[in-house]
Amino acid sequence: MSSRLWLESYWSCGSWHLATIEGHEVFDQSQAIPAVIKCLGALQSGSGVCKRCHCVLPHGLSVYSADIDQAFEACDNNSVGKAWAWASSAFISSYNSSSTQVRRGRQFAVGHGTEGWSRGWWVISMTQIQAALVASAASTFCALGDVVLQLRGMSIGGSLSSSAVAVHLAFEESTAFDSERLAAIGFQNCGIADVQWCRYVDDILSFSRTLCSRCLSVIFSTLYSEKLSEVYSSDLALGNPCNWLLFEFHIRGPHLAWT
Ligand SMILES: [Zn+2]
Repeated sequence: MSSRLWLESYWSCGSWHLATIEGHEVFDQSQAIPAVIKCLGALQSGSGVCKRCHCVLPHGLSVYSADIDQAFEACDNNSVGKAWAWASSAFISSYNSSSTQVRRGRQFAVGHGTEGWSRGWWVISMTQIQAALVASAASTFCALGDVVLQLRGMSIGGSLSSSAVAVHLAFEESTAFDSERLAAIGFQNCGIADVQWCRYVDDILSFSRTLCSRCLSVIFSTLYSEKLSEVYSSDLALGNPCNWLLFEFHIRGPHLAWT
């Protein structure tokens, strides 16, 4: 079975799961603006003061953007199996099915469930996808003469590397609102109405109406095991545009305008 087939199968599961449960990943740039609108619509209004540090929020909307540094190289090979176990568990509870279907051809097609699919469809289980991801993540060997070494991180260009990194990052994001984690970094009673974000591969764009952008940066710098490079912080760059993907955003009071 080709690696492309596995990859399509993963993406079908990943996008279903991540889109329907608590996903933050934008899989297609055409969905970037709808994702931003959805984020803004899910935020609760604030009192004008940051819930964590009590600084004044001058414009009613905080924006923080960052890149995840070297996401492939920093992705822990050993974390991929655990991350997929989490994703597949959520998929099974959502769809009451432990397999996905993929039809090969000029255009791939995907589905879920175990019935109603005709000849030409492959049925691929969550367990099979896990085995493929774990094996792919572990295949980072290089040879120096007779010495064989295994490199840390995912191999760039590996057939399943981007899938493995995506599910690894999504797994990390699933812990964002863990109350013990948040309490340890000074956040009380903080949840999805306070912080919303979307991510395209390794580019994060986050929003809040109740926290300042500096406090947003604390949430994300402690959420990912990878290091972040800050791209934009509205507290520090008021009046300047924020660039994310192909878009330029401007804060207009409590609203966001984009070009
Ligand atoms: Zn703050």
